[in-house]
Order: sequence, then structure tokens, then C-alpha cells
Amino acid sequence: MSLLITNIGELVTNDPAAGDGPLGLIRDAAVVVDGDRVAWVGAKQSAPDADERIDAGNAAVIPGFVDSHAHLVFAGDRAAEFAARMNGEPYTGGGIRTTVAATRAASDESLRTSAARLVGEARRQGTTTIEIKSGYGLSVEDEARSLRIARELTEETTFLGAHVVPAGYSPDAYVDLVCGPMLAAVTPYAKWVDVFCDRGAFDGDQARAILTAGVKAGLTPRVHANQLVAGPGVQVAVELGAASADHCTHLSDTDVSALAGSDTVATLLPGAEFSTRSPYPDARRLLAAGVTVALATDCNPGSSYTSSMSFCLALAVREMRMTPAEALWAATAGGARALRRDDVGVLRAGARADLAILDAPSYLHLAYRPGVPLITEVLHNGVPSNHPATAPDRTEG
Ligand SMILES: [Zn+2]
Repeated sequence: MSLLITNIGELVTNDPAAGDGPLGLIRDAAVVVDGDRVAWVGAKQSAPDADERIDAGNAAVIPGFVDSHAHLVFAGDRAAEFAARMNGEPYTGGGIRTTVAATRAASDESLRTSAARLVGEARRQGTTTIEIKSGYGLSVEDEARSLRIARELTEETTFLGAHVVPAGYSPDAYVDLVCGPMLAAVTPYAKWVDVFCDRGAFDGDQARAILTAGVKAGLTPRVHANQLVAGPGVQVAVELGAASADHCTHLSDTDVSALAGSDTVATLLPGAEFSTRSPYPDARRLLAAGVTVALATDCNPGSSYTSSMSFCLALAVREMRMTPAEALWAATAGGARALRRDDVGVLRAGARADLAILDAPSYLHLAYRPGVPLITEVLHNGVPSNHPATAPDRTEG
């Protein structure tokens, strides 16, 4: 079944061949979807016929957001910790253990329901691709079930057994567990392997050992790097060809040039700095050096409990001095790069039919109207979420 979305006032394609600049802007555009794929993109007067149609009413349309960093399989609530932090307590990452205890105690069904609710929440806000990490189980059994549940919700699943060292283990003994039985148990459900390489978590050698074991098991690395201090995370990520180094808040000049000379995306997570009242990463320094930048939510119950890519985009513009165009690109095409995908974060023939219609004439409103729910319709795999498409009015000829 084919679907025509027409009367698009401003279409962001992220296909530089389609139009203006890196966003590939087309005015007065249309998109034709066939099944779960984009079949055609262009000026509305040239659009081919389709079985059904949606009239966008001159609104802006963007590729669905690609949220390449989220922790959605967990139980419990850390609102009180957030309140204490807003009252002056520092963020140390130690609260992860609170969530681990709640997650281990939860049933499969409640973990599944809670993660699915967050995926739905993200989808309604325009996110059509989402990565989900484990990391609140920290036992062979609990990491495996976290990833089994994550895999029911997305193909972008990440093994983060190396989130923190759980109680009862020495760091070395835990690294051995992660590289051995835990990795073997999660491999059927995981695509990526990740390590929280930072102060209070895992050092460079431990991160290297875990990521290398993951690569041997067929997973591709990504790294929580340089969030709290300027440690070895970025260097390890680049050295091992990681798809992404995430956070990148505290970087040396060597880190920046290593990223610039690599295929590793710098994924910035401003929701974490917002929620921990910390200094934001220097996006301009990265962009000036030619680093590919992505934006993601880091949705998790401790340090960034938001599923809103629009919110992160607005923070990136206001607090990190990214232009609205850079921020939108980073939240869509940048996220796709961070997941090494070329079928999402872009609207061109052959790409996945994942897009969002805004209640706004331009994508600029995403940062200009922060906190406003501007996403009125989301197509995921070609299926509209809200209004069913209507058959075209045959009397139009
Ligand atoms: Zn994270």
C-alpha cells in the first residue's frame, strides 16, 4: 500500500543532493511511502499517485529522531535523588546501584511494560529509532533478561554489563565475569558492547579488555567516555574503532583530534548535564575540528530522565551554541551515523519511512518553542501513529 504525504511546507531530508545545505531542505514538498520504505521525495506538484494521502497543511516534516543512547530497561524511581541534587548534592554515578537493586527485584513483565511505555513515549515525540542498553542487571541472568526484553523493542541493543562494579565483586573479578559468562549469555540479544569508562566506573585497561572481548563475540563497541573527567574513554573508543564515544564532556585537545581523525561519532547528551547541573560539552570545539556530532537523550532514571529529543535539541541550541540546523542534523542523521545506519535519519527513496510532522511551519520551531509538543504525527515503518490516512478525493481527477 502506498501513501502520499503532501502540502509539506518545509521538508528536511538530510539528503544534500535533494536541496539546500546538509539538511537537504525542500519547500512545498511531498513524500511517497510504499510499505515501510520511502518511494519518492520531491516537489509536491511532481508527486506520483498513491493509494492514500495525508495533507500536511503546509507544516514542516522531518526524518524521525534517532535516539542512539538510552537506558530503558529498569525498575524504580530516583526522583528523590534528583531533588537532593537540585538542593546541592553532587552527581557521582553511585545511584546506579539503587536502580540495580530495584531492577533485579522486578518481574520480567514489569520491566517489559515499563520499557515499552518509554519507547511509546519517545515515539509520540518523534523518535523512530531508539537504542536500548542493559546495565541495571549486572549479573549474568539479569543482563541477559534485560537484553532479551530490549530486543523485543528495538534491533539497536547494547550490552552494558560494565556500567559499574556491583557489590560483592572486586573490579578484576567482575571484568572477568563480564568478558566471560555474561558476554556469552547476552550475545544472542546484543548488537553493541559498551563500557562506562570514567572515574568511579572502569579504567582504560578494563574498558579495552571488555570491548575487545565484545568484538571477538561479534559485537561492535561504543563507549561512555569522558563524562565526569578527562579520562581515557575517547582514546580507547577511537583505538578500537567504536561507532560512538558518548558524553564527551571533558576532552583534551588530543581527544578532539583523535575523534576528528576517526569514524567515531561524538554523541552529546545534554539532558545529563541539565539533570546533574553540570557544565555542557563544548559542541562548537568538536564541530570546528570536523568531528561528527550526534545528540541523544541518555534516557535513564538517574541522570537524565527525559525521552524528548526535542528537549535535547533545544538544550544543544541554547546551551551548547549549536545552530538549529546542526542540532536537528545531529538528532537525526548524526544518531544514524552513531548507529552506523544509512536507512534512517534521512528521507530519500529506499530509506525507512520514518518521519514526523510538526505543528509548525519550520523545523526551527523545535528549538524556538522549547517544551511545546509540536510533533502531531509520526510515521514509523510507514505506519502513521495518529490520523489514519484518507483515500484521495477521486473527484480531484
Ligand atoms: Zn548512558
